[in-house]
Amino acid sequence: MIKTHTLGYPRIGLQRELKFALERHWRGEIDAGALETVGAGLRARHWAEQADAGLDFVTVGDFAFYDHVANHIQLFGCEPARFGFGDGDTALARYFTLARGVAHEHAHGVCCGAAAGGAAALEMTKWFDTNYHYLVPEFDASTRFTLASSRLLGEVAQARSLGHRVKVALIGPLSFLWLGKEKSADIDRLDLLEDLLTPYCALLAQLKQAGADWVQLDEPILGLDLPGAWILAFERAYRTLGTAPLPLLLATYFSPLEENLSMACKLPVAGLHVDAVRAGHELQSIADWLPGTKVLSVGIVDGRNIWRADLDAALARLQPLAARRRGELWLAPSCSLLHVPLRLREDAAIDPELRGWLAGAREKLDELKVLRRALADGEGSVSLELREARAALDARRSSERVRRPAVAARVAALGPGADRRASPYPVRAAAQQARFKLPPYPTTTIGSFPQTAQIRAARAAFKRGELAAADYEAAMRREIAAAVREQEALGLDVLVHGEAERNDMVEYFGEQLDGFAFSADGWVQSYGSRCVKPPVLFGDVARPAAMTVAWSTHAQSLTARPMKGMLTGPVTILQWSFVRDDQPRSTTALQIALAIRDEAVDLEAAGIGIIQVDEPALREGLPLRRAAWPAYLDWATRAFRVAASGVRDDTQLHTHMCYAEFNDILPQIAALDADVITIETSRSDMELLRGFGAYAYPNAIGPGVYDIHSPRVPSARDILRLMHKAADVIPARQLWVNPDCGLKTRGWAETRVALANMVEAARLLRAAA
Ligand code: GLN
Ligand code: ZN
Repeated sequence: MIKTHTLGYPRIGLQRELKFALERHWRGEIDAGALETVGAGLRARHWAEQADAGLDFVTVGDFAFYDHVANHIQLFGCEPARFGFGDGDTALARYFTLARGVAHEHAHGVCCGAAAGGAAALEMTKWFDTNYHYLVPEFDASTRFTLASSRLLGEVAQARSLGHRVKVALIGPLSFLWLGKEKSADIDRLDLLEDLLTPYCALLAQLKQAGADWVQLDEPILGLDLPGAWILAFERAYRTLGTAPLPLLLATYFSPLEENLSMACKLPVAGLHVDAVRAGHELQSIADWLPGTKVLSVGIVDGRNIWRADLDAALARLQPLAARRRGELWLAPSCSLLHVPLRLREDAAIDPELRGWLAGAREKLDELKVLRRALADGEGSVSLELREARAALDARRSSERVRRPAVAARVAALGPGADRRASPYPVRAAAQQARFKLPPYPTTTIGSFPQTAQIRAARAAFKRGELAAADYEAAMRREIAAAVREQEALGLDVLVHGEAERNDMVEYFGEQLDGFAFSADGWVQSYGSRCVKPPVLFGDVARPAAMTVAWSTHAQSLTARPMKGMLTGPVTILQWSFVRDDQPRSTTALQIALAIRDEAVDLEAAGIGIIQVDEPALREGLPLRRAAWPAYLDWATRAFRVAASGVRDDTQLHTHMCYAEFNDILPQIAALDADVITIETSRSDMELLRGFGAYAYPNAIGPGVYDIHSPRVPSARDILRLMHKAADVIPARQLWVNPDCGLKTRGWAETRVALANMVEAARLLRAAA
């Protein structure tokens, strides 16, 4: 018996209906009832799509008004006491307070993937290795769990009333605890397991009553390097949960099971879902280990990428399983489809040839349908569909838009020295000092200045065709000139042009490089109401023309001080795009690296002496399993160095990374060999810098001296205090003074004061030196 299902479905809506309804509700323009109506409508539509595609169940429980982890916080009654909710607060109002804080003066810092300071919102962090951010549950000694919300049961009732068979998706208890954070030192969140299992069991009984056929328990942490106690806890937990009155599907994804494989197969549940895209090599062992009576759910269609599936290859893998297994075989996407756009095949912004190669969530469900029929009724029953898919794949493989022999040849010809600067750092540093004569504690910023309403209005008008290209360009040149004047008045040492012309640091480059495409409706939820539209990197990357030189030289022409050119690094461009699956990521990264390298060389030739290659996503690209780290770090750091090494010794190469745990990858950060690295350190009160000090990090560092996510303006004394802490661990001659990150989300008034205080702090440091 072969069935099809999905672990989850996009919730935001093709036109981002949920986003707009949420934002209207937050502005007080629609009430909770109206918002609930939009939510119910989206659920009904998405279930109808699943039913149309012939899925055996619709998935209930994947919908959320902000985040599905936050839903579980309310479901299991563990809203942190620090919010001080009273009886007067409705569940929905409390929910948005958890997500957005009490005085949500400013949004979360999305570029850095971490929560904003100030407001008391729950911290936000990335969901495994995706760009989706979840709200982090908080546990302390007073945490108790109860079944506290009937929202999920209401959604089951809604699906049942629409005539659907229902599979409920929940996060499993161990993953829920793992994803949370201990807020007091005296507890170990694993000790909360027993208490948590009680409401889980109660919920399972109620779901049965409500008419659910199956419950899917997501335990993606089975693909992580887990401590032994957590591995052991699985058996305990599932022995209890396994007594539920309805069948359970244990769902794993994103990463191979490895040492947890046989345990996962033996747990007393009715079925197991595995990610056959990321962990395809384990499929055979799982089929061997999993008792024949259990359901094997094979995540055969890629839930993390947007390419149309190779159905022939999928069938070749599924046929032996279908022939051998006695238990049911289920087909599904590898993981929840939350991470891909809803539809792409008819997207208005992508040309017909290219969009024929793509599959969004809805189209992936159709692929499951074809696979099931081919397995159940023979390939002849779907020969037309198979032929069509094959033709699309062949077209993609042979297209001249994808394969550019000159690009491949250039990557292949890269010698061992291509990722090395001409001379070692001390030699370069001397040449740069002779050229720029920067004072001790040089001051700079990370690149962007406030993206004012005026800038955004001009860009919107330009995109709508209401502002001519020449007028848009003139407006941006005026913005750049204004930013340069501001910086000169402030007395900063190394200036930036301010990035007024950039909508987004990846999109800006993707739009100018060959090999990238942009959809009209390819939205993916990032967090809450925020969505991103990742570029589609479909072909060999080439740079038809310089991308930033005109803006940077314009800026440099307005000042005698050094103007820093601003580029996005290859790993970040890769990480924030949908990337082709027909060649290794490492190869694609090198292609992008060469394009960025050429741009840096052009900037240098045009007189730009300082160039920054941003890599905020380097750390987040780390694989979920530690054993896979070295290989990733090897190619990722090489790609950066290839991008950064084309310039002369006396050109100063900067890089920037946002808040991240750097300590476990310091050797690789040092091996990037950037002349200057700027990092986000203020929220850790410079603690992050200790690791750099202990490692004797050799090159220059600009530790961020104030949090750009907060409207709070730091005083010169605040900044001095942080710089003194920095100088305790890093020799003063290596230190720069700069904010944590770019300033595009801030206003000019606060930025001006903050930077004036920063320059003043640098002056005091120099005076005391
Ligand atoms: N240069 C970029 C900016 O200043 C860097 C942004 C980032 O680190 N995410 O906006
Ligand atoms: Zn940053």
